[in-house]
Amino acid sequence: MDYKDTLFLPRTDFPMRANLPQNEPARIKHWQTKGAYAKMASAHKGAKRDFSIHDGPPYANGHIHLGHALNKILKDIVTKTHYFFGDNIRYTPGWDCHGLPIEQQIEVKLGEKKKEMSVSQIREMCREHAKQFIDIQRDEFKELGIIGDWDKPYLTLKFKFEAEIYDALCKIAKKGLLTERRKPVYWSWAAKTALAEAEVEYKDKEDYSIYVAFDLDKDASKKLGIKGAKAVIWTTTPWTLPANEGISLKPDETYVVTEEGLIFAKELLEVVREKGMTKGKIVKEFISNEIENTHAINPLNDRRSLFMLGEHVLMDGGTGLVHTAPGHGEDDYHVALRYRLPITMPVDDEGKYDDTLVREKLVRADYVNELVGLHVFKANEKINQILGSALIHESKFIHSYPHCWRTHKPVIYRATKQWFIAMDEPVMSGGRTLREVALSAIKDVRFYPASGIKRLESMIENRPDWCISRQRDWGVPIAFLRDKATKEPIFDDAVLERTREIFEQKGADAWWDLPVGEFLPAGSDYDAANLEKVSDILDVWFDSGSTWKAVLTSGDYDAGGFPCDVYLEGSDQHRGWFQSSLLISCAINEYAPFRRVITHGFTVDENGQKMSKSLGNVIAPQKVAKDYGVEILRLWVALSDYSSELKLSENILKQLSEQYRKIRNTIRFLLANVADLDEIDTAHFGVLDQWILNRASIAFNTARDAFRDYEFAKGFGILLNFLSNDLSGIYLDICKDRLYCDSTDDPRRTSAQSVMVIITRGLLPLIAPTLTYTVDEVIAYAPAVVKGDAKDVFDIVCAPFEYKFDELDPVLMDAREKFFEIIDTLKKDKIIKNTLELDLETNSNQILQYDLSEVIDWFMVSDVRSMGDGEALAEFEIGDDHFRLVRSAKHRCPRCWRYQASEPECLCPRCSKVLNA
Ligand SMILES: [Zn+2]
Repeated sequence: MDYKDTLFLPRTDFPMRANLPQNEPARIKHWQTKGAYAKMASAHKGAKRDFSIHDGPPYANGHIHLGHALNKILKDIVTKTHYFFGDNIRYTPGWDCHGLPIEQQIEVKLGEKKKEMSVSQIREMCREHAKQFIDIQRDEFKELGIIGDWDKPYLTLKFKFEAEIYDALCKIAKKGLLTERRKPVYWSWAAKTALAEAEVEYKDKEDYSIYVAFDLDKDASKKLGIKGAKAVIWTTTPWTLPANEGISLKPDETYVVTEEGLIFAKELLEVVREKGMTKGKIVKEFISNEIENTHAINPLNDRRSLFMLGEHVLMDGGTGLVHTAPGHGEDDYHVALRYRLPITMPVDDEGKYDDTLVREKLVRADYVNELVGLHVFKANEKINQILGSALIHESKFIHSYPHCWRTHKPVIYRATKQWFIAMDEPVMSGGRTLREVALSAIKDVRFYPASGIKRLESMIENRPDWCISRQRDWGVPIAFLRDKATKEPIFDDAVLERTREIFEQKGADAWWDLPVGEFLPAGSDYDAANLEKVSDILDVWFDSGSTWKAVLTSGDYDAGGFPCDVYLEGSDQHRGWFQSSLLISCAINEYAPFRRVITHGFTVDENGQKMSKSLGNVIAPQKVAKDYGVEILRLWVALSDYSSELKLSENILKQLSEQYRKIRNTIRFLLANVADLDEIDTAHFGVLDQWILNRASIAFNTARDAFRDYEFAKGFGILLNFLSNDLSGIYLDICKDRLYCDSTDDPRRTSAQSVMVIITRGLLPLIAPTLTYTVDEVIAYAPAVVKGDAKDVFDIVCAPFEYKFDELDPVLMDAREKFFEIIDTLKKDKIIKNTLELDLETNSNQILQYDLSEVIDWFMVSDVRSMGDGEALAEFEIGDDHFRLVRSAKHRCPRCWRYQASEPECLCPRCSKVLNA
């Protein structure tokens, strides 16, 4: 007789094969159309804890790549972790819509036509471009199973949003943090415009290389205790020498005075000796710091030139003494700010010297008139001539030099007026500066990883004032009116408020469309005829840095409270969004806009190389979804240590698929074996049931704590380890006999089923934040005893797992391990095929005190008893406990295969009872 049909074998319709690429899209689409986010945002209203992530807006240009996918999936996992842990969650995604990259794409599209168009027309095209990519990216994010308020995202291009950004600017202005100052930028004299970094191309250009000797002023001579020495600088732009304000030296570096009375860095002495400027004999050595804040004399104009220290001074060429013209160089500018030097800039829009030369006496009076009006690139020879004997070496060379991308003419670095947020004005409460407020505010923020605070701290400590103005069209205007004559901006409350209202109603385009008078409120004392508009727009980082205000404090979005709980972005945002958001919030509120900052690393291939088209190692998230499934991509994020680089490759994807398959099969086995259980029975747990519940309790609660700390890889590691070792590796195996062979109402069987239900219920909410799709599918197939009233994944909640019992006696663990080592050998030697052929004999009191039916299950043998004298197939010892493996003397039961039948082909007593019941 075939007894197979009398066994209670597992059954479930939950498919073994997930077929993710085929099946995921429909279920994900179902969530998005049936309001999964609305359900999540309302399910835990009134919960003890609220939780919100404020979305760092991606730029609305192009398709999403793996970095976007990583960022949004991680946000989704974090949000859902809080959700499944019972918190009242909010997640409003957003987009950064203004800025240069979009404006440039529109310029390329327009070509020459741009000249005939108004600013508002160009802005309208930029707006349409951004909207198009918002729709594209939104669909791409939704397809990754990211759940958020996609129907009401925040867009920085919305009129009300532009008004909020502008309002943030006004609040900062009124605090006295806004200043207008000169700062050097790339300047195309041929196009008469400032250029962004991206608008510059490099080509070869021939230039002078000159060495100029500056006499030391009295203070420097006195410090060094020598007379008649000269500091030698090297430059390739003689035309910037009139604007010299100082000489930068490398801090803590040794400098020398030569026999000829010339000063060089000691390390570069050999280089200048080869050029013939000195014979190389040293008469004095000194450390750069000794002459800090003393002066040299500029031979062009006899003005004092300050000795400064700067890390930008390198020992890879020149003299180690760097000519510093703050109006004509980025490094020069920054070092000058520290030493509070003026940003002298005597060059006009067309690249010609202007009257500043005369007014500031930047060139000796006998020559100055020859230079005013002369193009700087034509002035080098004249400058060299004026230098006379101070010019101690001159040559020409060819180097790579920035050129204007439109006119192809070489550009210059030229300071123009820009708007800044001042870091060091003591205008905040208690006379503190913005820098001080920001540094103190981040002490209240928790960083993941913890090292993030140091990174942000040192960037804030060292950053210069924030230049927030751009000379472009696609952005929020720095919409201030100013007096035509004095150039003083008007920060009058009523005027600013009127402007804000206009932006709210008509958008910021109105700044270009409407005449000045429209921005003056009725009855204003100002006369429109005397006023002009500031024409700059805001740095796009100001837009995104003020999103907390527009999204979290305006009441326009249901996006959670302020400050928000989490900002989560790539680690490059210490420099970017974390910092801009912090500064704007500190300027307005004097506290940080976030309670926690989580950062992730960047995606690389399996060899740790950056993904790039040229290397052919780029992995598109859409392709992973198509080939493996979104669930695999999500598992990748959860299993990676996201705080460092995240590796991904086809190999890694295959390994992840295998891990996914194991998780899925374990859950399937659990579901299939509890199908006929009506309610859980906790009254009859045996020691093995108690053991696995205790193991589950430790694993689940530790994993839960890890997830709460956003350590997903750690939490998943604990779960996967539990699933594969204790659960699948032991418990599910040793339960098979009772599950398949015991009668359906046997407490041994219902207890094991109850354990499996309890473990499934404990497991699902822990993995649901990551494997949301899979858990949703599980809920669809799970019997009522598992899912209760849950209709879908969003109905389940993670409760603390409270099944604490004693551990098994360690001798059982050790004996089992030893036993199966021996079994491997016996099987290999073809002595047995199955452990059921064996009985186990032992003198272990610890083991013999257990219910022996449990010990039989534990070793998966047919009998366990105290020591006998039959022939042993093998023996082993654990401490003083002795074990013997003996071939079972009874017969194999044809139903359960245990050697417990007294006659051949007869049922064992248990099976006989089950079938005759
Ligand atoms: Zn049997």
